[in-house]
Amino acid sequence: MKHQLKVVIYYSGLAYLIRLVNSLRGRRVTILTFHRIAKAGDSGLPTISVTYDNFQKLAAFVARHYEIISMTQYLELAKAGARPARHTLVLTFDDGCREVLEHGLPILEALGLPAVMFIPTGTISNGGVFWWDTVFTILSSARRPLLPTQVDDSSLSETMQRIPGILALPMRERKNAVINLVEELQNAPPNVGDRLGQLLLEANPNLMNRRVPRSALSWAEVTELARRGFEIGSHTVTHRFLHRLSTEEVRRELEMSRQDIEQHLGIKTDIFSYPGGKYNPDIAAVVAETGHVCGCTTDDGINSSDEDVFRLKRVNIWDEKVVDARGRFSKAATAWSLFAKW
Ligand SMILES: [Zn+2]
Repeated sequence: MKHQLKVVIYYSGLAYLIRLVNSLRGRRVTILTFHRIAKAGDSGLPTISVTYDNFQKLAAFVARHYEIISMTQYLELAKAGARPARHTLVLTFDDGCREVLEHGLPILEALGLPAVMFIPTGTISNGGVFWWDTVFTILSSARRPLLPTQVDDSSLSETMQRIPGILALPMRERKNAVINLVEELQNAPPNVGDRLGQLLLEANPNLMNRRVPRSALSWAEVTELARRGFEIGSHTVTHRFLHRLSTEEVRRELEMSRQDIEQHLGIKTDIFSYPGGKYNPDIAAVVAETGHVCGCTTDDGINSSDEDVFRLKRVNIWDEKVVDARGRFSKAATAWSLFAKW
C-alpha cells in the first residue's frame, strides 16, 4: 500500500478503528518478530534487519501507546482464556543475533519492555555466522566474488549454474536476486544453503570482512541477556526447517535444544519458535510432546484469546515495515504493519 494512504489512515483515526474492530473480534495480541538490529554499514541479509535508529523509535512508539507483556504473561492469559484489557504486544527475537545484546537490550531496559530471545543452541555453541548472511554478503559484494571451481555436490548443481547470471545483474537487481535465492535455499533440503555458504567462503575468504558481524551470541552473552530480563526460548539446535526432517530428527532437535539451554543457563525453557516458521500438525504435536507450551510461527496476523498456542501468529518486522517512502521511521507505517490484519 502507498505510504500516503497509510498516513491518511493513521491520522484520520481509521487505524484506531481497525484496531478497535480487531479487538472486538477478540484479536488483541500482536506478537512482533525481530532478528538483527543493525548499525549503519553492517551487512548481512537485509530482510531480517532493522536499523538501530528505527528500532529505537519503534520501541519508544510502542512503549508509549501500547501494553507490552512477556511471552509467559501472554501464555498465562491464553491458558485462562482471558482477554487482555486492551490491544497488547509481545516482543520476540529469533536466531540469537548478537547485536540484540549490544544494541537492543539497552533500549528495552530503558523503556522497561519485556522480550524473549529464541536461540538455535547449536549455532550458539559454534559461535558461527549464519549461512544466509555468508551467501548474501559474498554474492552481493561490490567486488565480484569468485565461484568455487569444483563442486562435487549434485544438490547444488542447479544453484551453481544460476549464480553467474545473478552476478551479471546490475547491483540493485543482483541484491534482490540473491535475497530470492536465499529464500529458495531456506526451503531446499537441509544443508544445501549451509554447503553453498562454505564453498563461497572457501573461494572468497577476503570478502567476509569485518563488517559481517559474528551472527550468534555466545553462551556467556545469552546468560547476560537472561540475567537482564530476557526470556530465553528454543529455536531448535541447527535451525534446519523442521518440515524437511524426519519425526525422529524433529524430536532430537527439540529435546537437545532444551537440554542445551538447561545445561548452560540452568533453566528449563518451555517456549519455542519454529525455524523459518515451518510447521505442520505432526511437528506441532512433537513440540507439545517434548514439553513445550507454545510454538511461534511466521504466519502473519493477530492472535485471539483462544488462539492455538502451537500456531501463534506473528508480525515480522524489518526496516521496510516501519519506514516511509523516503526511508524514515513512520508511525503510520508502523501502526499499519502492527494492526492492519484481517
Ligand atoms: Zn530463525
